[in-house]
Amino acid sequence: MRSTGIDSLTLAESVAELVRIPSVNPLQAGPRAEEHGPVGEGALALRLAERFDAYGADEVVLDEVLPGRPNVYGRFPGRSERLVVLDVHTDTVSVEHMTDPPFDGRVEDGSVWGRGALDTKASMGVMLALLADWRRRGLRPAPTLLLVGSVSEEVGGLLGATRFRPWAEQQGLHIDQMLVAEPTEFRPIHGLKGLVLIEVTVHGTAAHSARPDLGANAIEAMAPVIAAFGAEHERLQALPPATELGNGTVSVTGISGGTGTNVIPDLCSISVGRRIVPGEDPADVLERLQAIAHASCPLPCEVTSLLPTTPDGRPASPAFYQRPDSGFVRFLADVSGTEPTTAPFGTNALRYTGLADELAVFGPGSIELAHQATERIAVADLVRLAGVLEAWLAPA
Ligand SMILES: [Zn+2]
Repeated sequence: MRSTGIDSLTLAESVAELVRIPSVNPLQAGPRAEEHGPVGEGALALRLAERFDAYGADEVVLDEVLPGRPNVYGRFPGRSERLVVLDVHTDTVSVEHMTDPPFDGRVEDGSVWGRGALDTKASMGVMLALLADWRRRGLRPAPTLLLVGSVSEEVGGLLGATRFRPWAEQQGLHIDQMLVAEPTEFRPIHGLKGLVLIEVTVHGTAAHSARPDLGANAIEAMAPVIAAFGAEHERLQALPPATELGNGTVSVTGISGGTGTNVIPDLCSISVGRRIVPGEDPADVLERLQAIAHASCPLPCEVTSLLPTTPDGRPASPAFYQRPDSGFVRFLADVSGTEPTTAPFGTNALRYTGLADELAVFGPGSIELAHQATERIAVADLVRLAGVLEAWLAPA
């Protein structure tokens, strides 16, 4: 697949310009990120707003999600009222572990290099280059395009997506198709598991370890709780899977407790991740995890949800699922020469269930190469993406 009206260097430069504006998620910004000047999604959002404006957006909105961290929306009128959305997160992961210059955006060895090139500025850069090109040639997309730059995808709870959803609902938007940009190797992702994340804390009584009878050992009391979560995981694996996403899982991912080798510990906590599948309600799942902890723990314990509550009051988002034979998913697969698949990682799509008639996660490059010590996107992939976006948006 080749793009029709645009050369590969223009695409590469459009992506490189975005890489050169550091937008490390503030929860992961360290000294290396900060030495390059203002860190965060704010500067990138302002630059995107300028480019949206220059390329013919009839509405550009900076929507502050957190202080200095706005989402940015640009509406590009099409030849019809039919509305589609391309959502691209603007934050990147940390650069502290990078062995490469993180923000030079150099184009070398057939790739654009730097943090965010792959995850996920490539999609925004290519879309912008196309819009600029169409503007010059007097072309408009077939559907009206709402281009969304959303903050806080990598860490911190999908806050940009969480904010965009009520904004779109408030505007009364009817979204026909929505594409969430992530590196998927051009395979449309039609399903993602959701995540309920909890912390369990056991309260015991401290004592000299020579007199354990005077205390209540919080770490030992946690052992049957961990075993009970293991049993819950096994129970889930025995269920017939409802979709291609398979079964839910339970994993204990962290533990802390104890203050000294000669002290009976009065506190122990664990973190537990429960991946949820289509059909499971996050509130029911949380309640079940709480019940398991309380039933198995011989000492008083408390269970708290570690994720921010969703706007509709749930402890987490449900899984995202779109049938693999739906028109949009099939279109993306056919035009890319790939097959639909599901993915184990979370994306903004978890916040968008039901917001659009059809939803898919899609983009160039491999998630397996994201978040690493070097980061790059192949220019050939940018050209290929331009072809897919032109097939989708059909400028004329
Ligand atoms: Zn990403």
